[in-house]
Formats: sequence, structure tokens, C-alpha cells
Amino acid sequence: MADLASTLSEDQLQILKDVALDFALSHGLVVRPPTITGQETQGVINAPVSLIPTVFPSKAFDDAVRIQPLFNELVHTISEDDAFLKEIMESLSQVDDFVKRLYDLYLLVRKEGIAQPASLGVHRSDYIIHLNAGQALSEAKIKQVELNTISVSFGSLSSLTADLHRQGLFLILLNPSPHACFSLQSGGQGYLHATTGYFSDKIDPSALPSSESIESIASGLASAHQLYGSKTAKVMMVVQPGERNAFDQRWIEYNLLKHGIVLIRKTMAEIADQGRLDPKTRALFIGDQEISVAYYRSAYATTDYPTEKEWDGRLLAERSLAIKCPTIAYQLVGAKKVQQVLAAPGQLERFVKDPEVAAQLRASFTGLYPLDNSPEGLAAYEAALKDSDNLVMKPQREGGGNNIYGKDIQGVLRELTAEQRNAYILMDIIRPPVTKNVLLRKGELQRADVVSELGVYGIYLHDGKKAVRNDNGGHLLRTKTVDSNEGGVAAGFAVIDSLLLV
Ligand code: ADP
Ligand code: MG
Ligand code: MG
Repeated sequence: MADLASTLSEDQLQILKDVALDFALSHGLVVRPPTITGQETQGVINAPVSLIPTVFPSKAFDDAVRIQPLFNELVHTISEDDAFLKEIMESLSQVDDFVKRLYDLYLLVRKEGIAQPASLGVHRSDYIIHLNAGQALSEAKIKQVELNTISVSFGSLSSLTADLHRQGLFLILLNPSPHACFSLQSGGQGYLHATTGYFSDKIDPSALPSSESIESIASGLASAHQLYGSKTAKVMMVVQPGERNAFDQRWIEYNLLKHGIVLIRKTMAEIADQGRLDPKTRALFIGDQEISVAYYRSAYATTDYPTEKEWDGRLLAERSLAIKCPTIAYQLVGAKKVQQVLAAPGQLERFVKDPEVAAQLRASFTGLYPLDNSPEGLAAYEAALKDSDNLVMKPQREGGGNNIYGKDIQGVLRELTAEQRNAYILMDIIRPPVTKNVLLRKGELQRADVVSELGVYGIYLHDGKKAVRNDNGGHLLRTKTVDSNEGGVAAGFAVIDSLLLV
């Protein structure tokens, strides 16, 4: 079947490219170009985007949105189960120094007594859709890739990309060329109508859903700030030095200002240098500024802690009265090992008592296997040595570029001791339907066969006694060429996309 990308003429691609580049620069849909470390630059380039939205089944999208508050609740419930975390984290700590540092931090602040009972979650649950052979796209099911609980990005750029796509398509409609395959439906309601492919039917503008994530993250931070209860305090974004994706973050700052709240940006080293706790209340002060919420857009990767100073900064914030987004406990719950343990029979059901709710969540799981010395772990190990073509092997890391795929798994497994294997999990590869799009990176167009990954943001605020917010916070679609394993936009593999619901 003809698809939208294939029906676009070269003229139309050029129109869309010009629209996209100028839209990106005028709306802050931009990133800093890669530079020599430490070198400041005034210049920006367009964020990697697709030129047009990607077709996505609306039923699968609705499912992902519907279950997000259930995942938000689940993260919180698990974060309060010390014994469960202990069992997983103690054994990971023996083979993974980074997990050990994080878990030691968790133990230390618990031992000292937690100053701030409230916690804020800004999560993103990521999915790839799965189709059985012969099924129509509309029957596709979402399968969870992972659940991110720290430093989820692209909330702002996602909203802007959906806006760009809507604008680009309408401009094409209003610029009919001899080759144009679109026309406005009579009645002028702005419905898209084309003569070929997916656009052979009327398409309602609601098929191009905007994402509220550019506002929802700021609104979550505002709720936490209000719960903290000081008018003069400020929200602190904990950032990486030299962040290329700073503009995605700036929109959160600007939208927070609409709530009358000021956000400051500090690295973990700066927190260590400039921070102190009030001896009585344990309120966190950076210089003379009190901090209501410590919002991490850092602190998830080993490279975020190049020296002990960064750990000192993290510890100071974690000990403080500031509301953490996320708490160290939430961060631990986001471990891939936790995801794998939950998928084992009966485990998810320990935390989700309502069988119907548990079934809804479980339906989004794909095959996940331990690599420990349990009978299941040994069986998974043996099976992977025989055939690993349909597997991905994951360590307890975030941020992309850490996984091992397919045949490579066997070589890695043979190198590891039985104990070292325990630092990883195995997962079935999810193979989504391939579509076509045109990718725009650094000003260059590339027509490509692509696959997409949907992310749904979750906003959750707990005051220590009850949940005071539990919301779906918009969505993200990332699209990559079908031949690349990883999906990171920042890592240069993927582009930001939007949905065309069918
Ligand atoms: P990270 O925390 O580093 O983002 P992910 O689990 O999301 O780790 O893996 C990174 C990328 O690898 C994903 O965005 C996706 O493109 C790919 N990937 C991970 N797991 C699977 C899977 N089970 N099936 C297909 N692709 C996967
Ligand atoms: Mg991921
Ligand atoms: Mg992740």
C-alpha cells in the first residue's frame, strides 16, 4: 500500500524541509551541535525530527495512555517495599559498582531518617508495537521496552514536533502543486484528504494528537513546589555540564514561570560546592536560595559521577527536605532487573492486588528472563547460547548504547562468569511493523524505512500518606531507521516524530 512518505514529491519534501528548519529555529525545537567538550557555542541546529508523522494504531496508543497511571502507582508501591528492593539490589551490588553506589545512598538516607516524606515521579514508559503474522496494523499490541523513572527527556521537543507536523501538513495542503497528492476536503474543516495510501480516507485532526508533555512536566514540578509550601523557594534542575539537549529543558523552565515559580540549573558538582542543609529543618540551600524540588536531568549514568564531588552533591540533595524527582528509591525501581523480576509469574501480582489491573499491565510485558543462578536463569543462559537471534541483553544502565543484541550476546555470555551474568537481564526482541518516513538531521533529508517507539509520560505526586496527583503527561514518538538496534535521539540513532493515528 502506498504510504504518505512515498507519495510526497521532491517539491513537497523541499517545502516541508524549509518549514521544518524555520519552525525548529523559531520555536526552540533545537539542540546544541556536538562540540569539543567544554567549548561554549552560541549556535544551534534543528533537533533531529521526521518530516511527517508516522502511522500508529490508535487502539495501541489508547492502551498505553490508559495504563500510565497504573504504572505510576506501581512505581510508588514498589518504592515503599524495602525488603523487595533489598533482595534485588543486594545481589546486583555484588556485581555492579554503580548500582552498589546508588543502593548505598538509598540505605544511608533511610538509616539517617528521610527528611521529606513526599516524592515526585516524572516517568516515561516506552513501548514498541507487536503484530502477529497476518494481523492488521489496527490489531497491534503495545509491548513495554522499559519504564524510565529518572531524567526522562524530550517532553518539550515532542510537543513541538507534533505542532510542526500539523503545520507542515496544512501548509502542503494550502500549497497545491501539480504533483500534490493532498487536497482540502470540501467544507474547509481542515480535514486532510489525499488521493493515495493512508490518506485515501478522511483524516480527522484528532488523528494528529498534540502532546501535553511540554506543560505536564512543569505542572508536576509546580504541584510539588506548592506541596513543599514556601513561596520564596526555587525549583532546582540538576543538570549535566555542557548539556546539548538544554532547550528541551528550558521549555520546562519557561512553563514553570507561568506558575510563578523560578527554576535554577545546577550541576551535582555545583550542589556540592554551593549547597548546605539547614541544621534544624534540613532545608536545602544553594547559596541563599532555598530549594523546594530537586528535579534530576542528570545522575542516571556512570559518566554523571566523574569524581566523588558529584556523589557528594547527590547525597546532599538526597538528605535534604527538598522534594526529589525522582527519589533514590524511584530511581532504583526503574532498574531493568526490577522490570524482569516483575514479569516473573506472580511477582507483579504481589504489588497489584486487583487482578484486572494486573492483567492490563501484564498484557504489555514481553518475554523477560533472568541471568542469575536460579533454575530460570540457568535455563535462559543455556537457551541463549543455543539461539540468541531474537534476544536483547541489558545491563542496569540508562541513556542508550548499553545493550547487546542478537548474535553478539553469545560472545559476551561466554566471557562472563556466572556471577557477572547476574548484572544483566535478557529480553525478547520486539519487531514492529516497518513504515516509511523522511528524517531531517543536521539539515539533511533521508528517506528511510523506519520503526518507532512510543513513550508515555506519567506525572505522580505522593505526599507521604496518599497520592495527590496521578496523571498521564503526554507522549513521545521516536523513530529510527530499521537497521539500527538502538533508539536514542541524543545518541544520534533516532529522530523525534509524532503520531498519525489510524
Ligand atoms: P535505555 O535505558 O538505555 O534507553 P532501553 O531498554 O530503552 O535502554 O534500550 C535502548 C533501545 O534499544 C530502545 O530504545 C530500543 O530501540 C532498543 N530495544 C531495547 N529493548 C528492546 C526490545 N526488547 N526489542 C526491540 N528493541 C529494543
Ligand atoms: Mg530507553
Ligand atoms: Mg531507560
